Amino acid sequence: MEQEPNTPPHVLIFPLPAQGHVNSMLKLAELLALAGLHVTFLNTDYNQDRLFHHTNVQARFAGFPGFQFKIIPDGLPVEHPRGGDHFYEMFNSMNLVTKPLLREILVSSKLQYYDDSGSSTNNIRSGPVNCIIADGILTFPIDVGNELGIPVIHFRTISACAFWIYFSVPDMEEAGELPNFTSGKEDMDRIITRVAGMETFLRCRDLPNVNRIGHQENPLQVIGEFTRQSTRAHALILNTFEDLERPVLSNIRTQSPQIYTLGPLHALLKHKLGSKTTTSSVQSQSSNSLFQEDRNCITWLDAQPLKSVIYVSFGSLAKLTRYEMREFWYGLINSKKRFLWVIRPDMVDGKDDDGQIQVELVEGTKERGYMAEWVPQEEVLAHPAVGGFFTHSGWNSTIESIIAGVPMICWPYFADQQVNSRFVSEVWKLGMDMKDVCDRVVVETMVNDLMAERREEFIKSTDTMARLARESVSEGGYSYCNLERLIEDIRLMSV
Ligand code: UDP
Repeated sequence: MEQEPNTPPHVLIFPLPAQGHVNSMLKLAELLALAGLHVTFLNTDYNQDRLFHHTNVQARFAGFPGFQFKIIPDGLPVEHPRGGDHFYEMFNSMNLVTKPLLREILVSSKLQYYDDSGSSTNNIRSGPVNCIIADGILTFPIDVGNELGIPVIHFRTISACAFWIYFSVPDMEEAGELPNFTSGKEDMDRIITRVAGMETFLRCRDLPNVNRIGHQENPLQVIGEFTRQSTRAHALILNTFEDLERPVLSNIRTQSPQIYTLGPLHALLKHKLGSKTTTSSVQSQSSNSLFQEDRNCITWLDAQPLKSVIYVSFGSLAKLTRYEMREFWYGLINSKKRFLWVIRPDMVDGKDDDGQIQVELVEGTKERGYMAEWVPQEEVLAHPAVGGFFTHSGWNSTIESIIAGVPMICWPYFADQQVNSRFVSEVWKLGMDMKDVCDRVVVETMVNDLMAERREEFIKSTDTMARLARESVSEGGYSYCNLERLIEDIRLMSV
């Protein structure tokens, strides 16, 4: 089917199948659909089932003529765990199995459609894909796009600072600065000098924790190599905002000049939807969760005093040992602060636990705490009762916390999280970095510092940064204007 004149451009959006990636790329999909573009959202079959099961996305997107979900296999059996250490098995499998399938669906006309079902007033025609927005971790869509003459925009869902550090890995290697984490002899406080703009404060311990990144020969080199692949893409999208990461963005622009900063993306979407719906209906409609949300936690929060609760969550992939769980639990209890703690059923490492939350931990928590398996996090962070966030420093969690003006205690688990936590504490002064420590006394002290003793100090910076984040997604702000520019550029690709 040829593209007809006046048919809106057709964009294929393809995320890495992980919660943080699907979440932010679905938000971008919604923004493009709102602007009238035709969008195909490509999920792995495994994740599509989970997404449809736990959310109302199908109903939500049914309102957009020209939007469709499509599936593609990740090449793994259903029972494969996919999280924790196994995450990289999925990544490798996609490079092998999913790449040829992506090519196949693009050359066939499987992604084009003609909807005359009567569900919309017009008969919707969608032409061939004009632009691919692929997850920046996936490099094979660039090969496929280049071969087929379809421009590929890379969407890297990490911070600009993490992107730039990954990008600089070959420079660190050339200077002999790359740490050998597995030797056990590395001085983790050694300063890394070869990342432009970070010469004074970046330590070995702030680089990705490779012990938790699969079993490849040298994971840092692998990450560095595929990050440089983004320069082969037509452009780069980052879920950040200029006022937060201006200096590092200038450095990235020397290598990859076409960057659209669109963050915080969830707030940009809320702003765009805001004029059409009430805040509460936006919140309840906008879940992109791959897990079942416990909404009772909001009722519990409603009953807590202003800024009295520390919200504790380590995202969708991190695994904790039973020892770590206990240290966190005792630290929280001994701090005597109220807490809302997310413990996914698969979160406790199976190696030294049966995977169940310890009954006595839950029992002992009831007085001041609430445990949940998954919560509506954006809503939780925006709740007036929440005064702090104990986080694994995943980028989505970090940027959601920043716009909510909530200070953080960071306990990074892997990948870019080590970098994010360093920037939160050392550069942006939005909280404390508890990296590489897991001790109940430290937890207790930091929780008390964040919620009481040093609160004033952090609130000054969190308030300022939250205001700048809000401005960036408001009319005339950088992220707002960059979205307009992106839409315009995609339109030009289809003429
Ligand atoms: N999240 C959520 N409910 C929870 C915990 C997390 O909705 O109980 C969301 C959170 O809002 C964020 C995403 O899951 O958008 C986690 O992404 P992040 O990049 O922070 O960490 P990852 O899961 O990739 O390690």
